[in-house]
Amino acid sequence: MTAMYIADCLDVNSQGHLTIGGRDTLELAETYGTPLYVMDEGEIRRACRSYRRSIEKYYDGKGMAAYASKAFCCKALYRILEEEGMGADVVSAGELYTAQAAGFPAEKLIFHGNNKTVEELSMALEYGVGRIVVDNLTELHTLDALACATGKHPGVLLRIKPGIDAHTHEFIRTGQIDSKFGFALETGEAMEAAKAAAASRSLRFLGLHCHIGSQIFDIHPFVLAAQVMIGFMAQIKAEAGVELRELNLGGGFGIKYIPENDPVEYDRYMQQVSAAVAESCAQTGLATPFIIIEPGRSVVGSAGITLYQVGEVKKIPGIRTYVSVDGGMCDNPRYALYKSDYCFVAAGKAGQPKTCTVTVAGKCCETGDLLGENVALQQVQPGDILAVLATGAYNYSMASNYNRNPKPPVVLIGEDGKDRLIVRRETMDDLVKNDLD
Ligand SMILES: *Cc1c(COP(=O)(O)O)cnc(C)c1O
Repeated sequence: MTAMYIADCLDVNSQGHLTIGGRDTLELAETYGTPLYVMDEGEIRRACRSYRRSIEKYYDGKGMAAYASKAFCCKALYRILEEEGMGADVVSAGELYTAQAAGFPAEKLIFHGNNKTVEELSMALEYGVGRIVVDNLTELHTLDALACATGKHPGVLLRIKPGIDAHTHEFIRTGQIDSKFGFALETGEAMEAAKAAAASRSLRFLGLHCHIGSQIFDIHPFVLAAQVMIGFMAQIKAEAGVELRELNLGGGFGIKYIPENDPVEYDRYMQQVSAAVAESCAQTGLATPFIIIEPGRSVVGSAGITLYQVGEVKKIPGIRTYVSVDGGMCDNPRYALYKSDYCFVAAGKAGQPKTCTVTVAGKCCETGDLLGENVALQQVQPGDILAVLATGAYNYSMASNYNRNPKPPVVLIGEDGKDRLIVRRETMDDLVKNDLD
């Protein structure tokens, strides 16, 4: 029965209820209320370990897996990441503050963003962030001046557009100049930035970064990106006289949202990309750089589910059946944003076949507030608990208070099977706390 439910942490118990980390989801909904995010700690740790193992295996340990915080960010997660020897990406003062509040080691943080403010850059310098990924020339000059003024020597990578767009299942080799992120190779601005970074006395110019997209199922664009980047490292060596030591190849590895998704095993990705890195380095005469990868979705996505209570089941004869739940785009905007696929399960009937086709609607005042259309589901009625699977990434982190809905709490199921609240439910007082009389 497990195969029905896409993630290792999910199963169905003898009562036919959906379980996560061995725990009955109906009991969790009863204890904590709904909507509720539940995450399985074992699944997160297994993902971290598989990335770390691949770095040992294919790069002789000379690399780092840095989790992209934007996928799901809270203090408890940083503690798990630290225990698993992971680094972490942050893209804002808020994520940096959270990492800092969790005591996450600054040297293992990578600071991203296409428009970091002076305050954010200052905060990164003050906290001693290990690497700042510089996006543009304005930022390079601002950071150089700040570093100079404070006597700091931050490690810097330059974000490069390698000219490979892999945002969809198809990827396009060229035409990626039109992105708000990073330096273009074609226009010469990337080389200009490399020369400026190499000339700076305050910045430690460590290497290059690229990130080619998200939810990618194909290895080929990653291989091409690695080749382009190493080619550019060789060009920098020739023209700017610096041999860069680091190459950050970004994240973007796809996960299984629905049974039809067929993600590449991390190990196969790592094996093929590392072979391309070795070959390109041999061809260009460069030493193999320290490799960084930045998985976000694939560390936490499959580890999470969301539990809702079903309210109205509205049958519109000949049109469709709306199953309304007590959350929606406020806790999961991904369907509204991208028409993302999800797998839906009636948590109390998880062992039964899905005989209905329904549209799952949220409670927000928007016609577009849906979680899925024409999806398969067991027969449900008001009061039932509905689980949406693989919501661990880009759900809580994208949640809003639209319609003044309080954000749901996050419960973590530990490797010992115990449940632990890691983010509490927002209260009505939280919603008005910034309102002035
Ligand atoms: C979003 C992002 C990631 C993580 O992407 P996933 O698809 O979640 O793995 C990594 N690096 C950068 C720079 C990103 O913007």
